[in-house]
Amino acid sequence: MSKHDQLNRFLFEDDAVRGELVSVNETYRKILHQHNYPLAVNLLLGELLVATSLLTATLKFDGDITLQIQGDGPVKMLVINGNNYQQMRGVARVEGSVTNQLSLKQMVGQGYMVITITPTNGERYQGIVALESSTIAECLDDYFKQSEQLQTRLFIHSGEINGQPAAGGMLLQVLPSAGSESQHKFDHLVQLTATIKGEELYTLETKQILHRLYHEEDVTLYDPQPVTFHCNCSKERCENILLSLPDEDIEHILHERGEIDIECEFCGADYLFNQQDIEELKRIKKQQIH
Ligand SMILES: [Zn+2]
Repeated sequence: MSKHDQLNRFLFEDDAVRGELVSVNETYRKILHQHNYPLAVNLLLGELLVATSLLTATLKFDGDITLQIQGDGPVKMLVINGNNYQQMRGVARVEGSVTNQLSLKQMVGQGYMVITITPTNGERYQGIVALESSTIAECLDDYFKQSEQLQTRLFIHSGEINGQPAAGGMLLQVLPSAGSESQHKFDHLVQLTATIKGEELYTLETKQILHRLYHEEDVTLYDPQPVTFHCNCSKERCENILLSLPDEDIEHILHERGEIDIECEFCGADYLFNQQDIEELKRIKKQQIH
């Protein structure tokens, strides 16, 4: 029953529509394993993970996408960050109780989602997504409808299979080359894709799913790309953060605790710096400036 995490791209060539299908059970479990959130928050993180994977796969360049939800409800923040290698990480901040019955709006309160696209080389782009609909997929559908981008639809499921967290989803997008006659075909493909069930995404092989949904269509399936949990935090990044802080703040923490402990909130990695480490850092920085 175990299925490898992978992202699949496919194409309806005659209809000028591209598609993606992703399953992220293992990656999802690894992200949740770092934390201890209420079930409803886990499910929301699963949706956000699938959305990030699907959107990252539409990038035409090296870079990463961060989807961040923030609000004034009990779920203060939810973040998933992924890059074009389909390396994913995520975290949530919850204050107060979150029961299973709460809707997206009740969990997040007054809030919104920020999409940040950061090319490895190039300028950062940010878009704001209103959280007016009841699921993350619907909110993103609204966003694509309102912004002047290629017509895009997302289908996202998160839940459980055999008592273990599971998540997966699909994306359809018209190609830039599509003519006006593609609209009808796109709508038809959306109808077919909307019949996908969570359990099918969590357990069936890609070919089985594509056959089940599109057996009357002409689909080209490309080689899959693995999806993994990966955090790109490092000692060097922590050093850069420390060097950007005012000296007196660092002195204060060192004086109080003897060392500075930076814990990565995505993966739990611990980075420790004592007085000696900090002095060495400053010495190197001085050398670089002069
Ligand atoms: Zn980390």
